[in-house]
Amino acid sequence: MQLTTLGCWAPYPQPSGACSGYLLQEGGRSLLIDTGNGVLSRMLQHIEIKELDAILISHLHPDHLMDIYSLRHAIEAANLEGRMKRVVPLFLPTGPVEDFNRIKGFTKAFDLQIIDELPASREVNVAGFTVTFTPGKHNLPVYSISVTGSKRFVYSGDTAYNQELIKLASGADLFLCEASGLDKDAEYLKENHLTARQAGELAKAAGVKRLMITHFYPEYALSQLQSQAEQGFGQSVELAREGATVTL
Ligand SMILES: [Zn+2]
Ligand SMILES: [Zn+2]
Repeated sequence: MQLTTLGCWAPYPQPSGACSGYLLQEGGRSLLIDTGNGVLSRMLQHIEIKELDAILISHLHPDHLMDIYSLRHAIEAANLEGRMKRVVPLFLPTGPVEDFNRIKGFTKAFDLQIIDELPASREVNVAGFTVTFTPGKHNLPVYSISVTGSKRFVYSGDTAYNQELIKLASGADLFLCEASGLDKDAEYLKENHLTARQAGELAKAAGVKRLMITHFYPEYALSQLQSQAEQGFGQSVELAREGATVTL
């Protein structure tokens, strides 16, 4: 299994950067996780649009969503021109309703799969991967996502510290966790996000094998976020790096 970081900034990118987006691949299958601004052009450096098997969106904040509007056109064009003969499964939550309703109309591009309406386990087979969604703690509906292929990958989405995420991430081969701030931001972030140190502490509580942090505020030194995450985790922590692929 391979994970490529397409974008890692929030809530806006560094120069030439992109917001949240990750390509998870194994055995010729490709899942796109989050579609923040700048993610589509980055994805096309790795796969053609026809190779995209499914899209999973953690939540409908712009830094995780905006490129869905371009993806829609890219998929429609590929179908129109005969390069592709199917729509792409799109897993997403339903709130906020005005954003959801706009996307709901894109039926020529997407096969809409509403995460809120999945069976209680919220476990589904997506392109041969077992995918599990767990609600997070954020200022709008969000899901943390586990994807199991030959290894297990877990992505926090945007969330404050919560026990459900510890359960979901338990024993993960690679845990990609948001680290939206430094220790000094803890009070400001506490209802909606994790600091780098908290990401480390959560990963430690979950006993994950590897921790990679992401969702970086573009004005912060990554080395500082990394060092606080490592203090929380008690071992070395990787940084999401745009364009970099890691093997699980
Ligand atoms: Zn968010
Ligand atoms: Zn975000």
